[in-house]
Amino acid sequence: MDTAAARSRLEALLEDLDRSIAILRGESPERDNSAADAGAGLTAHDRVEAALESLERHRRGVLAALERIGAGTYGRCVGCGHPVPDGRLEARPDAARCITCQSAHDRSR
Ligand SMILES: [Zn+2]
Repeated sequence: MDTAAARSRLEALLEDLDRSIAILRGESPERDNSAADAGAGLTAHDRVEAALESLERHRRGVLAALERIGAGTYGRCVGCGHPVPDGRLEARPDAARCITCQSAHDRSR
């Protein structure tokens, strides 16, 4: 994996995430139970919070990947130290783990 290409993809991702987070923050309505969604039982506020949380988790992953580029460890699994397959990095430039370590990590959560 070419780290210069990875860096520019990650920086573009970060910009997109920052923009989406800013938009969501701007639109986040005040908690108002009268606006509760009858079906899900979630208020618009809760849905925005959930979306923000997932965007911010993704953003932290992207920042961590940029740090790994800086540290020269990008493309190496943070779990086992083996290279993360290029195909996986193509699909997820912020991937920190190989598929084996990722699924073990996901199960442990
Ligand atoms: Zn691994």
